[in-house]
Amino acid sequence: MSYKFATKAIHAGQQADPTTGAVMTPIYQTSTYQQSSPGEHKGYEYSRGTNPTRKALEDCLAALENGQYGLAFSSGMAATDCVLRLLKPGDEVLTGDDLYGGSYRIFTKVYEQYGITFKFVNTSDLAEVEAGINERTKLIWIETPTNPTLKIADLEEIGKIAKQHQVLYAVDNTFASPYLQNPLDLGADLVMHSATKYINGHSDVVMGALIVNDEELYKKLWFFYNAVGGTPGPQDAFLALRGIKTLHLRMKAHSENGRIVAEYLKNHPKIEKIYWPGFEDHPGHEIAKKQMRDFGGMISVVLKDADLKETFRISSQFKVFTLAESLGGVESLINHPATMTHGSIPKETREKVGVVDNLIRISVGIEDAEDLIADLEQALR
Ligand SMILES: *Cc1c(COP(=O)(O)O)cnc(C)c1O
Repeated sequence: MSYKFATKAIHAGQQADPTTGAVMTPIYQTSTYQQSSPGEHKGYEYSRGTNPTRKALEDCLAALENGQYGLAFSSGMAATDCVLRLLKPGDEVLTGDDLYGGSYRIFTKVYEQYGITFKFVNTSDLAEVEAGINERTKLIWIETPTNPTLKIADLEEIGKIAKQHQVLYAVDNTFASPYLQNPLDLGADLVMHSATKYINGHSDVVMGALIVNDEELYKKLWFFYNAVGGTPGPQDAFLALRGIKTLHLRMKAHSENGRIVAEYLKNHPKIEKIYWPGFEDHPGHEIAKKQMRDFGGMISVVLKDADLKETFRISSQFKVFTLAESLGGVESLINHPATMTHGSIPKETREKVGVVDNLIRISVGIEDAEDLIADLEQALR
């Protein structure tokens, strides 16, 4: 029986505890499990590799992404690292030129030193994607919407290119969440999440996830997951499971407030430029409409006539929005990518894709929209 999204968010991977009937999945705070004789156990040996609370979360995540297998990690970066371990020296990765700063950092500062190369292209342009592939390309790594300029890549068309060239195709689906977008349905082999963001949704856990359909790929990833050991503890898995139960409600509210805030800012005299895929004049709007359920609550703006000092001054005026890294929590956040989330990207590289000193990224929360607008109004005044 296949259920719809909200039912899966609340029930997938979870049943009442067989020993007590507890309705909520218990926090199995244990590192190890009794064996009746060596090698004979109930499927759990040691919690680096398997833990029942984490297993419930992984099954739930897999269900939400329409995948067969889920893996939870101690951070989004640990999940990304696990994928990169599939590569060998000499391999090349094709990825976007507007990426989460930490992804750019692990690519260029960690894996390049092991002889893996990275090619950065504009993934909104299919011709650039196709031209970027060569015989060494082993992985395509896509973010859409991108962080922070919210460019849209056509997931289905890139899937065709990946298949034609037999390249592993991974999508970082953090910005959309499984409620807004399901890359496996559009041809991706693998979905990565920073579950720290929308999936957990309450800014109290750092966690990552991978979801796949292919059993062979799952086994390869599970090997590194267990061998390297970047797996989360049961308490965090419990919190993420609790957060997920309202993912659909939160994403609807984020998208609704996102629209209100974006429309308010669009005509504001202090705003020079606004990025939000819900606008009809956004170059990726039609593709976003085709592959996403709604447009979400992530917005970036360029402040008019503001140097770094003025941008910092405005960033510090907010009372409801909080100036902080991260996104996707119930509370509204603003972030200055150039010095915060994307500080590890060289100035010249980031400015080429629009991450200028007067760009501010907004993660619209689910507070009352009137209060958010009032706060923007006073801060920009
Ligand atoms: C935050 C983030 C990551 C990294 O995840 P962590 O949980 O912080 O390790 C990766 N990709 C995107 C798009 C992110 O926003």
